Amino acid sequence: MELFHASKGALAHADIEKNSSAAFDRVTIYRTLQTFVEKGIVHTIPTADNSVLYALCKDECKAGHHHDNHVHFICDICGTTYCLDNVSIPPVSLPDGFIKKQADVVVSGICKNCR
Ligand SMILES: [Zn+2]
Ligand SMILES: [Zn+2]
Ligand SMILES: [Zn+2]
Repeated sequence: MELFHASKGALAHADIEKNSSAAFDRVTIYRTLQTFVEKGIVHTIPTADNSVLYALCKDECKAGHHHDNHVHFICDICGTTYCLDNVSIPPVSLPDGFIKKQADVVVSGICKNCR
């Protein structure tokens, strides 16, 4: 949890492993992250290379029920992934018979710290 609060952007599994104190092995970290996701503490962000990032959720998220319909931004220069909490994912209308479960919008570009 401290790692999430200390980081300005999202964390990858490897970042967490690298930064956590020795007592945690890979599996423990993975399980902990899964628990955090289930409890509505963190949400996952898909990336172009198929790895998954984790970021802290806002207060609205509850166990088993996330409300993270915000856009994510990946900076091409520093590689930081940001949660753009104030930018919501535009509604997508699906054809009849399709049920939307989750939509992920990831925008890449240059962040304000790298301009
Ligand atoms: Zn959430
Ligand atoms: Zn940047
Ligand atoms: Zn987010």
